[in-house]
Amino acid sequence: MSNVYTILEKAKKSGDLSREEIAALLSISDKDEQQALFDAAYAVKEEHVGKVAYFRGLIECSNLCIKDCYYCGIRRSNKKVERFLMDEEEIFKEAMWAYEAEYGSCVIQSGERQDEEYISMIERVVKRIAEATKGEMGITLSLGEQTEEVYKRWRAAGAHRYLLRIETTHPEIYAKIHPADHSMEVRKACLKSLRRTGYQVGTGVMMGLPGQTMEDLADDILFLKDIDIDMVGMGPYIPHSDTPMGEEIPAYTDEEKTAALKLGLKMIAVTRIVLRDINIAAATALQALEYTGREQGLKCGANVIMPNLTETEFRPKYQLYDNKPCTDENSSMCRGCLSGRIKGIGETIGFNERGDSLHFQKRATE
Ligand code: SAH
Repeated sequence: MSNVYTILEKAKKSGDLSREEIAALLSISDKDEQQALFDAAYAVKEEHVGKVAYFRGLIECSNLCIKDCYYCGIRRSNKKVERFLMDEEEIFKEAMWAYEAEYGSCVIQSGERQDEEYISMIERVVKRIAEATKGEMGITLSLGEQTEEVYKRWRAAGAHRYLLRIETTHPEIYAKIHPADHSMEVRKACLKSLRRTGYQVGTGVMMGLPGQTMEDLADDILFLKDIDIDMVGMGPYIPHSDTPMGEEIPAYTDEEKTAALKLGLKMIAVTRIVLRDINIAAATALQALEYTGREQGLKCGANVIMPNLTETEFRPKYQLYDNKPCTDENSSMCRGCLSGRIKGIGETIGFNERGDSLHFQKRATE
């Protein structure tokens, strides 16, 4: 029996894998071994969270950003992107669309802003959504680094999940892909603030960053475990041509796309194996690499999908990376085609359910 099968056998009983074992799984290139990894992860998913895919309607409400991350298409210094900001009414309308479409949850995401005008607008709209849906709808925020005070205000308004990716836990890679005034320590402190404030806390990384090894990604997974995370949203790095990193790395060839997708799927699978009962999102970036990328993510252990609710007119302006999919579609088209594809892989959709992190719920009742 090869080493991989021994590790997968062990993984059936427990997620306590070593850094070397995790790196060995991420390094799999053999087709049969890869399928065995995906099957093992799916078995863990079935046992711990079931075969239900939860929808989170994604509202990308603004591409204004004070940050300047070298990989991101909406970074402050990208002068080619036309900036937009949805008004409160527009955000509310999209959230209500998600509610009526029985999605159970929505995610409000944008570039980062820390000014009071924006903070209070978000506070008002969250409150409105929570009231209009009688607190039934899950509200996730993904609005970057804020003070604990701000996290508390938004929590009090009715948001209960927060997604803030650490991007990478490798200090040198972090320093290479961000300007000097962007700090990993600040992000870690934010994740602690979010936990203290009572959110279900989500983070994640990008895979396939320049210089990143399988051992580095193993460290990322161990970090997720170490901070006892409730939800994970992670995806492959995809170059954007109008960014410093994208200028250095040309657009992916078909082979590179396939490799990036594979790595993304393996990360989801291993994260499911190690972390068991958390929520894991199949990121939209997977779909940018292959049309059915997100469904493949579900088959490898993810249990959350974020259909895009953003109005078609705004979509081309929220291009974090090149070839972001479905920028010419609208919300109803996403609901229909996605639902069909998910049923096609034998899963049910948790319509009208919030689909809260079981891991969070268990901690709360301990
Ligand atoms: N400003 C918010 C969220 C918006 S960006 C925040 O900081 O949390 C959401 C995520 O998109 C980022 O966390 C990053 O991981 C991802 N992203 C940005 N550029 C990307 C790229 N070129 N390829 C893949 N993912 C990217």
